Amino acid sequence: MIEVCEVGPRDGLQNEATLLSAQTKADMIARLIDSGIRYIEAVSFVNPRVVPQMADAEVVLSLLPKRKDVRYAGLVLSRSGLERALQTDVDVLHVVTTTSDTFNQRNVKRTVEQAVAELTPVIQEGRQSGKDVVGVLGTAFGCPFEGDVPLATVTRVAERFLQAGCTALTLADTTGMANPLQVQQIVGAFSTAFGSSLSLGLHFHNTRGLGLANVLAGYQAGVRRFDASLGGLGGCPFAPKAVGNVCTEDMVNMFCGMNLDTGTNLPKLLETAAWMERIIGRPLDGMMLKAGIQKNR
Ligand code: ZN
Repeated sequence: MIEVCEVGPRDGLQNEATLLSAQTKADMIARLIDSGIRYIEAVSFVNPRVVPQMADAEVVLSLLPKRKDVRYAGLVLSRSGLERALQTDVDVLHVVTTTSDTFNQRNVKRTVEQAVAELTPVIQEGRQSGKDVVGVLGTAFGCPFEGDVPLATVTRVAERFLQAGCTALTLADTTGMANPLQVQQIVGAFSTAFGSSLSLGLHFHNTRGLGLANVLAGYQAGVRRFDASLGGLGGCPFAPKAVGNVCTEDMVNMFCGMNLDTGTNLPKLLETAAWMERIIGRPLDGMMLKAGIQKNR
């Protein structure tokens, strides 16, 4: 079974010029649930002055259907983000740092070491408050300013996050620099370092057209959890020329074709993506939106 973590409501909408109301975001999430998605990065507890698209995190969460079989996640980048998150009933905290000093300085004005030092008690307190905490390691496959990020640096941050109590990790290719061989190598190195019991997810952007190839390489290396965004929405406002995430319905279509279960309903997902495209008001990047579902499926 493959777990899809839908990040469109956060990573996707964060980089769209069209501002959606909290109600429309909640409608989007309800439709995603209807399409079989059970894990959704719904909001970000980021400073609203920095990312105005995410300013209504608390309102969005209050409008979501309460279901035991659905997990909602919120992004946490700092102590103030944690304090906001703990006032809500969000299920999972996605605690993020990048692993490149230059990128992190530009993004949150801290070195990686400073970020890890600040986030360690954030992870601990999140766990003590009964939340699941997933550590997200950005720029794990390269930094647009520094180039390759040493694997030892990524592993060191992973170790600190796990020691602090993270229940899972996600390796994120923040600006779409990964390639399949590198995915195989990094996932292999993580299995060696942390054992096969580590719950590892992958987060790719399709910046250079390698998104699905990287997902497949991750699958073949043993990963069973992948982030994706509806229609391929998204990017990162701090990353030069970043484009959207791997597209959810394209990824689901790939896994369906391989007879692998994602627990989702492809026709319904595609309808939801078409609905989203109308809301955003520009053609989205997803290929399934253009091509449709093959007849024999
Ligand atoms: Zn991203």
